[in-house]
Amino acid sequence: MGGPVSASVPGRVDVVVVGAGPVGCGLALLLGARDRSVLLLERHSGPYPLPRAVHFDDETARILQACGIGAELPALSEPATSYEWRNGEGMPLLRFETPAQGRQGWPSSNMFNQPDLEARLLEMVEGNPHVVLLWGHAAIDVGQDSGGAWVEIETVDGTRHRVEASYVVGCDGANSSVRDILGVTFEDRGFYYDWLVVDVELHEPRVFDPPNLQVCDPRRPTTAVSGGPGRRRWEFMCLPGETLETIDQESAAWAFLTPWEVRPDNATLVRHAGYRFRARWATRWHEGRIFLAGDAAHQTPPFAGQGMCAGLRDAANLAWKLDHVLGHPGAEAVLETYDQERIPQAAAVIELATELGRVICIPDEEEARVRDEQMAPLVPPGGSVPVPMMPGIAGGILAGSAMAGELFVQAIVRAEGAEGRLDDVIGPGWHLVANGQPPELDSELAAWFGSIGGRTVAIGATVEDVEGRYGRWFADHGVAGVLERPDFAIYGTAATHHEIAELVRGLRNQLDALAEAAKTADRAS
Ligand SMILES: Cc1cc2nc3c(=O)[nH]c(=O)nc-3n(C[C@H](O)[C@H](O)[C@H](O)COP(=O)(O)OP(=O)(O)OC[C@H]3O[C@@H](n4cnc5c(N)ncnc54)[C@H](O)[C@@H]3O)c2cc1C
Repeated sequence: MGGPVSASVPGRVDVVVVGAGPVGCGLALLLGARDRSVLLLERHSGPYPLPRAVHFDDETARILQACGIGAELPALSEPATSYEWRNGEGMPLLRFETPAQGRQGWPSSNMFNQPDLEARLLEMVEGNPHVVLLWGHAAIDVGQDSGGAWVEIETVDGTRHRVEASYVVGCDGANSSVRDILGVTFEDRGFYYDWLVVDVELHEPRVFDPPNLQVCDPRRPTTAVSGGPGRRRWEFMCLPGETLETIDQESAAWAFLTPWEVRPDNATLVRHAGYRFRARWATRWHEGRIFLAGDAAHQTPPFAGQGMCAGLRDAANLAWKLDHVLGHPGAEAVLETYDQERIPQAAAVIELATELGRVICIPDEEEARVRDEQMAPLVPPGGSVPVPMMPGIAGGILAGSAMAGELFVQAIVRAEGAEGRLDDVIGPGWHLVANGQPPELDSELAAWFGSIGGRTVAIGATVEDVEGRYGRWFADHGVAGVLERPDFAIYGTAATHHEIAELVRGLRNQLDALAEAAKTADRAS
């Protein structure tokens, strides 16, 4: 097993991340920010050049902020506030409105160009002293024993290496070999269609009204949306009787664009690519020390713009848990909650995107007519519906209190002369946020909270609530304090000031109980 160890391939790291897509890069950066050593393997010799995702939400923006690219996000993306669906006759079927400002301190909806975002993530990875990125290095086998995990690597010239790690995460995309090696199967909704994706740069700026449009025309279901600053994205469904090969041609792409007044004299075709979307998720996302995240674990129809977002949520969930167990021997049971917390949420997102897709992907005139009739009452003239809320986490590391598992908020604060989003001003990690007076933790509990990377914040006392958003949130929800997890989910809320410390005590008890239950199970096996 394993060939010579080259100078550039470390012998042992905390975590090997397989695959340098957005999820692998995000996870590597989140672990690197916690001083964990990471080897990031990418089988290709350079970044994947083709645009795929065009949308991310405010939670994803906050994760990207934690990855260290918050300052660049406004230049990399443009906010979207609506997503309109029309039928073949141009009549409105649905209009989703998204508030300009989301709850996580970023616009609710952001349109972007995936290669530009990945390029920035890769620059950050290359500048991170804790992360080694190796291009042209494919993971060809993974394994584990009680002491750790290992990855067998093959370089483009056929050289083999073996790296030891405490944990391995397969962020190796839809055709994940890590997933295949683990022998994991899928829950598959069996919903798939072929589409042609066309990305365009217009020579002159142009206003599209509506800016983000779904054309539910049975003659050619079509998506026409922003592709990020200076770009537009069209997606055209492959109809029955056609094949992707026949429509995935430059001439066909220009022909589809003609009704949109997009022609070679006023636009550049950045790419056209055919692809088949899937609606499925792996039934297990980890085995022992080996984990799956991103498209390796789940694939969704694109209609909710959530594939990469879900993958970055996996990274945010896994990063703090891996960091915790690496720093707290005996706490490994925390990792068991990864599947419990992430699978139902990712599955719910896929179900939602599938429902949207079933409305859009109708190439039959009669079926489309029935759909239009059924949808007519949904949007009163000039009206809109809110974008469905992402489901929270149910079960796992949560208190039993109100709102546990939902996302908390992030807003602008000022402290000691610094003003900005709260994570930037006080730092990431567990946040014990009290409205008004600082929470009262005894010194022993405060020391324990500090040891897991906890920070306390008193809105109006230790930080100024610049926009009043925290104050409004506390008033609206009638609570005095919140314990927020490092992945922004609410661990628990306290109704009164003196119960706030109990949230930290409850967390410690829960983590201790998890460790104890794992020890008992070990002894019994
Ligand atoms: C047309 C289209 C539109 C989309 N729109 C959206 C959207 O609007 N919003 C959204 O959130 N998502 C969207 N998505 C989905 C999004 O693009 C993916 O979910 C995202 O790219 C997945 O990232 P990832 O890092 O998990 O996987 P990938 O980006 O696939 O990266 C996996 C990496 O692993 C590498 N790799 C594979 N095997 C190995 C190995 N054995 N060793 C080493 N490296 C390996 C690969 O080379 C690759 O670089 C869209 C997708 C498509 C196709």
